[in-house]
Amino acid sequence: MEGRCKFEKERHIRFFTRNLQVLPSRYQVLDSNRLTIAFFALSGLDVLNALDRLTSPNKEEIIEWIYSLQVIPDRNGANSQKCGFRGSFTNGVSTDKTNQSHHDFDSSHIAMTYTGLACLLILGDDLSRVDKYGCLQGVKALQMKDGSFESTLDGSENDMRFIYCACCVCTILDDFSAIDRDLAVQYIMKSKSYDGAFGQGPGHESHGGSTYCAISSLLMLNRFGSALSLPDIRKLQRWCVNAQNAGFHGRPHKDDDTCYSFWIGASLKLIGSFDLFDWDENEQFILSTQDSVIGGFGKWPQSHPDALHSYTGLCGLTMMGLYDLNPITPALNITVKASNHMFSLHRKWAEQGTKVDNPLTTMNSLGGHMGSTLGAFVLGAGVVVLPWLYSYFFPSKIK
Ligand SMILES: [Zn+2]
Repeated sequence: MEGRCKFEKERHIRFFTRNLQVLPSRYQVLDSNRLTIAFFALSGLDVLNALDRLTSPNKEEIIEWIYSLQVIPDRNGANSQKCGFRGSFTNGVSTDKTNQSHHDFDSSHIAMTYTGLACLLILGDDLSRVDKYGCLQGVKALQMKDGSFESTLDGSENDMRFIYCACCVCTILDDFSAIDRDLAVQYIMKSKSYDGAFGQGPGHESHGGSTYCAISSLLMLNRFGSALSLPDIRKLQRWCVNAQNAGFHGRPHKDDDTCYSFWIGASLKLIGSFDLFDWDENEQFILSTQDSVIGGFGKWPQSHPDALHSYTGLCGLTMMGLYDLNPITPALNITVKASNHMFSLHRKWAEQGTKVDNPLTTMNSLGGHMGSTLGAFVLGAGVVVLPWLYSYFFPSKIK
């Protein structure tokens, strides 16, 4: 690769702040997913340690906008299975402010619930206005008989991506009562291919994105140690490491693509194998995809920058400890700072005994406190695992 590229930090900050104000016309098709774009921009600014650069819209305005996207239970709870967050007002209208009735076509989307909650954490909100009961009912309603999740109650694809989103929502709300863990783990393990990595579902080809979702979900479900043996982990390591050319690609024989420096890089981080690939080549590939004029990163060199690849490119760089970027918690895909804020809220809720505010009925809490189960990660003598692995996952909980 000729010449080393300079990291354009200031241009990336401006790229993300611009993404919060106005977007190119090609983003029109993503109108119903605005919350995810906001997530990439806000978490990107957080990784760049530049959240204080937000002026308009400022943090308070963004927090209000996110809460306006919350689908809350009506007075009778008739829509509770559709609760959570919607991505924009494209697919729904706000629940009646007096909380009397809901609109039949108004529904949450599980990826928006995850990214909405993550954005609130990133902005330092205390989640006090989140209807936790509604969010959890919304998640619970989306689990399918095979253990996977669909994204919205009106019907959608069901696969590993939405298991991951469900796990993130339950982790942020510190309550796993909405997930049948055994069924979810069964689905994940049935999606493990002969090569050791994971596809979107049983029988599907292994893929970098679904592998990241599977590993992260097993960790959040607290089943990583019991579900994967040492030979399983070695196969997984091999598959991930072989996905590097200069950067990483998601499937064999595909071109390198910026986002896989995160999806596969984070997978390697989570299994304690991040030192097994060529960091310098990876760094140079990521930098080759940055736009040195308008900022941001594209999928490939010379391609247009977009919010997703810009954020995942930065995550790839910060996992290698480069450019003084804020570190991330790989499994939740937010900064360590944001996840520490989440843990402080969990402690507060535990002290106040207000884990879930349920206005309609009493939900059983199946637990889900990952902090109490560090021992489960220890696979045996000579094994890679891992209090160490745990420290990558939740650094703040290591005493
Ligand atoms: Zn990509």
